[in-house]
Amino acid sequence: MAWTRFGKKKDMPGGLWIKCESCGAMLFRKEFEQKKRVCGTCGYHFTLPARERIEMTADAGSFEELWPDLVAQDVLGFNDRVPYGEKLTQTKAKTGEADAIVVGTAAVKGVPCALGVMNFQFLGGSMGMVVGEKIALLCELAAKRRLPVVLFACSGGARMHEGAVSLMQMAKTCGALQQLNRAGCVSISVMTHPTTGGVTASFASVCDLLLAEPGALIGFAGPRVIATTIKKELPKGFQRSEFLLEKGQIDRIVGRSAMRDELGRLLAYATGRDAVAAFKPLPVAADDEAAVAAAAAAAAAAAATAEKPRKKGKVKS
Ligand SMILES: [Zn+2]
Repeated sequence: MAWTRFGKKKDMPGGLWIKCESCGAMLFRKEFEQKKRVCGTCGYHFTLPARERIEMTADAGSFEELWPDLVAQDVLGFNDRVPYGEKLTQTKAKTGEADAIVVGTAAVKGVPCALGVMNFQFLGGSMGMVVGEKIALLCELAAKRRLPVVLFACSGGARMHEGAVSLMQMAKTCGALQQLNRAGCVSISVMTHPTTGGVTASFASVCDLLLAEPGALIGFAGPRVIATTIKKELPKGFQRSEFLLEKGQIDRIVGRSAMRDELGRLLAYATGRDAVAAFKPLPVAADDEAAVAAAAAAAAAAAATAEKPRKKGKVKS
């Protein structure tokens, strides 16, 4: 599977320099971290540990974690070289996390919300009983407190070690989001690289607003599996954010440096605090190469169309 090459070794290298997984540029680690793990050369967005994501998204000191002690159980007695129970213990020790999602309440730009962030470092961000339960509990709490829900997805899909139990989380999270919707609360999904399998096929795709980071791989089955099944060459950029925006699968692509502002605006709009917030132009940060390039192209296109009528008209002095 293609996304396995973005494993934890490359996510969290220990040296002074980091090689960009997309363009191969050598990035100075300190600068790379200042840029929120975005490549300064090509704008590639690396996967982020959940706690780092929360820190850059929520207002300082506003995040209150919920249900941190929920842990998975090896109900099937699954054994994949290492028994699942043992694997869980090892991963917990290595990552310091109880499972592949961190949830809680927070404020983003002053708007209170319920926040859930997946952690790719924990068994590839796979969705099992804990991820499903935490999302369901978070939606229930949000409905009770009339809070909007923001979910950051980053996952290899359902957790195979839990078999059918992990697949049931797809229905469970969708059901929880439907109840939230019935309670009149809004949900926002942010798909980050990579969002695949059962997570794409459930909660990440059924929220009211679907955002994605630039260049994120978002899909159900991997591109290689699809290409061999349909025996056709796949179009360029297949299953990437930009391709999916063009096809109408997602609503907006938001660069990492603009994400907090954009979420703040959407949450303010969705909760009736600022009726026009969502329609104001996107802020463009200097360190977000992709956003800068896209804005420049849009500005050039706008200038080209604006010039035409001026030539025809008599306004020119
Ligand atoms: Zn790069």
